[in-house]
Amino acid sequence: MTNAAPPLMGGMMDQPLLISSILRFAARHYGGSEIVSRRVEGDVHRYTVRDCAARARRLANVLGAQGVAMGERVGTLAWNGYRHLELYYAVSGSGAVLHTINPRLHPDQIAYIVDHAQDQLLFFDLTFLPLVEAIAPRCPSVKAFVLMSDRAHLPADGKIANLLCYEDLLAAASDDYAWPEFDEHAAAALCYTSGTTGNPKGVLYSHRSTVLHAYASAMPNALNVAAADVVLPVVPMFHVNAWGLPYSVLLSGAKLVLPGAALDGKSLYDLFEVEGVTFSAGVPTVWLGLVNHVLQNGLAFSTFRRTVIGGAACPPALMDTLIDRLDVKVIHAWGMTEMSPLGTTGGLLARHRDLPEAGQRAVLRKQGHAIFGVDMKIVDDDSKQLPWDGRTPGHLLVKGPWVVSRYFRDEGGDVLQDGWFPTGDVATIDPDGFLQITDRSKDVIKSGGEWIGSIDLENIAMAHPAVLQAACIGVRHPKWDERPVLVVVLRPEARLTRAEMLRFFEGKVAKFWMPDDVVFVDALPTGATGKVQKNRLRERFGDYFVLNGAV
Ligand code: AMP
Repeated sequence: MTNAAPPLMGGMMDQPLLISSILRFAARHYGGSEIVSRRVEGDVHRYTVRDCAARARRLANVLGAQGVAMGERVGTLAWNGYRHLELYYAVSGSGAVLHTINPRLHPDQIAYIVDHAQDQLLFFDLTFLPLVEAIAPRCPSVKAFVLMSDRAHLPADGKIANLLCYEDLLAAASDDYAWPEFDEHAAAALCYTSGTTGNPKGVLYSHRSTVLHAYASAMPNALNVAAADVVLPVVPMFHVNAWGLPYSVLLSGAKLVLPGAALDGKSLYDLFEVEGVTFSAGVPTVWLGLVNHVLQNGLAFSTFRRTVIGGAACPPALMDTLIDRLDVKVIHAWGMTEMSPLGTTGGLLARHRDLPEAGQRAVLRKQGHAIFGVDMKIVDDDSKQLPWDGRTPGHLLVKGPWVVSRYFRDEGGDVLQDGWFPTGDVATIDPDGFLQITDRSKDVIKSGGEWIGSIDLENIAMAHPAVLQAACIGVRHPKWDERPVLVVVLRPEARLTRAEMLRFFEGKVAKFWMPDDVVFVDALPTGATGKVQKNRLRERFGDYFVLNGAV
């Protein structure tokens, strides 16, 4: 074959992959599927996908009337709820860019990203009224702030000059709206990473990347979202688009349950039971709360059978409890804001079925297999590819159509290395292609030239019945460069000594992996996405050995 001849083009329709097509499809083919939301106003709201589509069209007309143009950003400070879902579709569908903001960030950071994104409108839930009142004067790009509620909940004092009411705007608008067609590479949504250093950086998803991610993440090897499911995303819609579930659930026809602000164990359990939730998704800390509530009260799940856990390593003890005591299948997933977010999902291969239970569990504990669309590799400090032997850890790099290629407004410059995105994670990959995250690059403990995986040590510590949470950090050591020190939070009423904790590691890790010391604290510092901030622990304990004069 010569390269000179042009390819013979296929004879299929050229239809752009647009987010509005998901809503249009869902309304037409699964229009009766239910969407249930626990509102911040206190009650439970329910309607159908068809109703959602009609209100999204009204909202698109509102955006036009407010002067929001193609490509302009519209901010949201909101929980998982039906109005937020309407914004997901109306903003992106009309050609503007949905900028979901993490309300747990510091107000200064929120004001910074609203300004950086140049948000034109800012929609917010009632909960965030005080926050919006505080930052409004520092958001000059915002022409109007929209309270996502009805007139009865509008504040009387008028602290925000240009405040509008969501329900009033919708009531006055027509639901006659034709979703525009445009280039599928156009920007659809913007999400800022909660970097531990420097200012947050924006990841600008396109329509194409979002639709492809929604497709791929719904597949059986990934999240396996089906029309017969009842899906409750605990993972917030303000953080990486709730792992794409607002899109993948609608294109699958499943029932969607949105928990609002009530994320404690009891509120979640009640909603799971009343609505018949079959599948959920969230970070490990949420499951700790829910599982404790269920076990402490002698409860069981009637319909809940499957959950995806990611955002941080799923502690094996939590996975075992969910599978063995509560009959809930656990899918361990790995990803990041820069990846829309899904990269890998856990699960067994056909031949793993013959493995004994413990062998199967070892496979499930890994972060899993790349989903089609994502390629990955591990490299050493000199960018040399490392083997997939399940033992050698390396810097993890990824590529694919839903992986970032540059940050919004070119913040941070050129981020790719030879076309690959460096994730900042350290991982092993086994001969079957299963990924196991051992650390963040910046959290890796380098001791005597070897890398010690802090996640492994934390998982062992958290398997002790007295331990609620554990973080392992490298502290400076005059002889070994760094040594691991374990920072532990005990369960309420539990007692444990340093010696007992260290004895628990015996026989479980190589000798040089043994933590040199254990420090007990009341709580671990966490950031806006609930991840433990090891940099703050290092600041606190970093000089430990030098100060203690230990060699
Ligand atoms: P974010 O962009 O805030 O979602 O954070 C992404 C980072 O969270 C990844 O780069 C990992 O360091 C971490 N992460 C996500 N999922 C997992 C997982 N299953 N196990 C370990 N770390 C994870």
